[in-house]
Amino acid sequence: TKTGSIALEDIDNLAKTSYPLCMRQLHSALREDHHLKHGGRQQYGLFIKGLGLTMEQALKFWRMEFSKKMDGDKFEKQYAYNIRHNFGKEGKRVNYTPYSCMKIIMGTPPGAGDNHGCPFRHTDIKLLKQRLASYKVPTSGIEQIADLVKGYHYQLACTKYFELTHNLDKDEASTLSLQHPNQYFDASREILSG
Ligand code: SF4
Repeated sequence: TKTGSIALEDIDNLAKTSYPLCMRQLHSALREDHHLKHGGRQQYGLFIKGLGLTMEQALKFWRMEFSKKMDGDKFEKQYAYNIRHNFGKEGKRVNYTPYSCMKIIMGTPPGAGDNHGCPFRHTDIKLLKQRLASYKVPTSGIEQIADLVKGYHYQLACTKYFELTHNLDKDEASTLSLQHPNQYFDASREILSG
């Protein structure tokens, strides 16, 4: 996505329509808890950078939520540095890239209170099914997704979710060949706004 093409006001809607499950889960947790632990901040922070948010937008986005629970000073001291760092404006000035599916799937699994990871890999299957149902995925689709998860085909499970939530047929969805959460997002935007 092009830098600066997304407005912060659009993010709640985009999370519902075009985020993959891993990022939707992080976004909801952030909105509900006004906080994310480190693993979640990294995974989600780099993803929204990949959406084309500018560093100023990203700082505003995080500050907006975090400052509901802590004073602005604490945010500036403890968190703002890291956000600028991810944009390559602090420390070694590396321009960090958003995590791929493989990195998320193979990365440190979420512990208690964490919201990072890949829900198809890291969420208890019963909970995952409940969540899919609450997102209005039809029961037959939920079973198909669960079968893929049981076969350790996490990215295919995610592709199935994409197919079902974008009303595609199987062949159309399989051309996606999903490797990256930002690729999921871009493909979704192309379909929904095209
Ligand atoms: Fe996110 Fe990739 Fe897992 Fe889908 S397969 S939920 S995009 S990490």
